[in-house]
Amino acid sequence: RFPAILVSKEGEKGQKVERVELGLDDLMEGDVVVEVAHSTVNYKDGLAVTGRSPVVRRWPMIPGIDFAGRVETSEHPDFSPGDRVVLNGWGVGETHYGGYAGKARVSGDWLVKLPDGLDAAHAMAIGTAGYTAMLCILALERHGVTPEAGPVVVTGATGGVGSVAVAILSKLGYHVVASTGRASEADWLKSLGAAEIIDRAELEAKPKPLAKERWAGAIDTVGSSTLANLLAMTHYRGTVAACGLAGGMDVPSTVAPFILRGVTLVGIDSVRAPKADRVEAYARLVQDLDPAKLDALSTHIPFDDVVQACHDILDNRLRGRVVVDIGEG
Ligand code: NAP
Repeated sequence: RFPAILVSKEGEKGQKVERVELGLDDLMEGDVVVEVAHSTVNYKDGLAVTGRSPVVRRWPMIPGIDFAGRVETSEHPDFSPGDRVVLNGWGVGETHYGGYAGKARVSGDWLVKLPDGLDAAHAMAIGTAGYTAMLCILALERHGVTPEAGPVVVTGATGGVGSVAVAILSKLGYHVVASTGRASEADWLKSLGAAEIIDRAELEAKPKPLAKERWAGAIDTVGSSTLANLLAMTHYRGTVAACGLAGGMDVPSTVAPFILRGVTLVGIDSVRAPKADRVEAYARLVQDLDPAKLDALSTHIPFDDVVQACHDILDNRLRGRVVVDIGEG
């Protein structure tokens, strides 16, 4: 038997979260069983555990949108017992039992083999947040945002997506502008590679259709007025990669940045990204993310602390990435 966090409906609108002991028969369908070594705390996990947004769409649910570990048994042609694997998204932790458990049974189509040079702990230090940061950077590159093109701004910079994005962009040679509400973390952001720190309040002001051009690219985890201001401040033919909604779902923008400056807005979804994109993202993460910086932006917590950490991430009390230690490896 193995431990798991189970979220169940309670009453009309409530939900309860408990630690339970489960057996393999309790898990959902799938052709690969993975012994989970580590999971993580992503913003979406915070929403699932607290119930603050309707992320969970099948009850009861084991949250945890990502995990890394070793294959225990497999009926999938691509995987054998002992293979080191990582999973991000595919509705795991939302519609299919997720990573906050000692074991997971999933479709092998959802798994990616860990590349050489990346162990399970570091794969989860990256986590869905860091893998999404890489998808954003790949999108900027595809749209011609090179280090020579100009600065790149990252919003929600002290968060999981933001901090990994800052570290990778700086290693790639970009001039990184980090937008944060936490001035006290300026030195930490500079140690990760930020060249400039701006107060996120600057980007929360009522957006104008167009403003002074400040950056060639942007990675946005915040949405709402912040995304509208980023668009208005992006260079002619620059690109904004939008992946988050920490500040809201709306986008109070106009068409001006698109039709007068040729700005591109790229949407980033990590959940259903095709396997080839995932394999490319992990290969680039091994190449372009300095392991010392990854260690500096991640902390480990024991399994027993995961529920509290899910509350903390929504209250903006976490910094960087939080890895949940569950099993061996
Ligand atoms: P996180 O660690 O909580 O980071 C979010 C950061 O946003 C915070 O650290 C904070 O940074 C800033 N922030 C928080 N509340 C804010 C508010 N009300 N207004 C403005 N800024 C605020 O979360 P994460 O895991 O990095 O995820 C970030 C966002 O990306 C979330 O919305 C998440 O759902 C989304 N996401 C999307 C995908 C995808 O596939 N599209 C994948 C992963 C994550 P500062 O304190 O530095 O300002």
